[in-house]
Amino acid sequence: MRVAFLGLGHMGRPMAVNLHRAGHRVVGFDVADRARDTARAAGLEIADSSLAAVREAHAEVVVTMFQNGAQVVEAYAGADGEEGLCDVAAPGTLFVDCSTIAVDEAQHAHAVATSGGHRALDAPVSGGVVGAEAGTLTFMVGGAASDLEEVRALLETMGRRIVHCGAPGLGQAAKVCNNMILAVSQIAVAEAFVLGESLGLGHAELYEVAAHASGQCWALTVNCPVPGPVPSSPANRDFAPGFAGALMDKDLTLAARAIQDAGISARLGLTAHEMYRRYAEGDGAGRDFSGIIESIRGNAGGYESTDDARGAPR
Ligand code: NAD
Repeated sequence: MRVAFLGLGHMGRPMAVNLHRAGHRVVGFDVADRARDTARAAGLEIADSSLAAVREAHAEVVVTMFQNGAQVVEAYAGADGEEGLCDVAAPGTLFVDCSTIAVDEAQHAHAVATSGGHRALDAPVSGGVVGAEAGTLTFMVGGAASDLEEVRALLETMGRRIVHCGAPGLGQAAKVCNNMILAVSQIAVAEAFVLGESLGLGHAELYEVAAHASGQCWALTVNCPVPGPVPSSPANRDFAPGFAGALMDKDLTLAARAIQDAGISARLGLTAHEMYRRYAEGDGAGRDFSGIIESIRGNAGGYESTDDARGAPR
């Protein structure tokens, strides 16, 4: 297919390279000089602007992989009366946004594209840079099933699992829900290890029990927050990411926004958001999110028990 690929950062560049290697016609662009240079060195054709990439590729598909929703909407619509991607794309072009953005922002971007005579999918990913390089990402897709079928082969070049989640925005909904589970379970596993330490329980022993019992989860058996039991986990390399605390903080900010919009009760999700906000404001922004265990250990003795907990029978 003929693809304009915009946003060639940590994730976008390897994704675009995989499309190029699979024989698609890819023209890329990134606003950052360094990202353009690195992408060019990786063999990608780079245009002088996003609009030029769409024109030069004669794009049937425009993929975006940006940091946030404001960038996506502005790129689609154009900033301050300037031309946007929707103005220069051929009628009926399929816009596929792979960035992680808020559900309502994804719906807004979809509306901008369709009112410009185009089609749009939200298609955020999980799997990180390793998955982007290996072409093993999971895509969570919102939008028309027929539009997804048109680009399924394209997505399968970059990913292993493609899930149609429903209407526009529901790909992003799946992404925030999944990452909220991940954040809460990573905190729960960390708290369990810290509690075990204070009770004299060894890491290896707790792991051996929980990994084969009902405490089993990804945060324990893949991303174990103590060194030893899972040699490949970030805890064995001083929490070099992995999945950085700043990204988890970002995703939980989107989850908190969705929780507020939906008006539901999600206390653990909001608590996880608060804990990861503090973690990212400290030294956690560039460290793996499993390093939250150090903040939990650091708070030992500083537990502010609620009246309910104080009065609870022992
Ligand atoms: P990144 O900052 O490395 O890359 C984003 C790129 O978009 C930057 O190079 C930036 O210059 C470019 N950009 C921004 N606005 C642009 C515009 N208008 N035109 C062209 N280029 C523009 O970020 P990343 O780590 O590649 O993540 C991209 C998205 O994927 C984010 O939304 C992130 O939350 C999500 N994500 C990241 C990971 C991860 O592990 N890094 C995992 C899953 C999802």
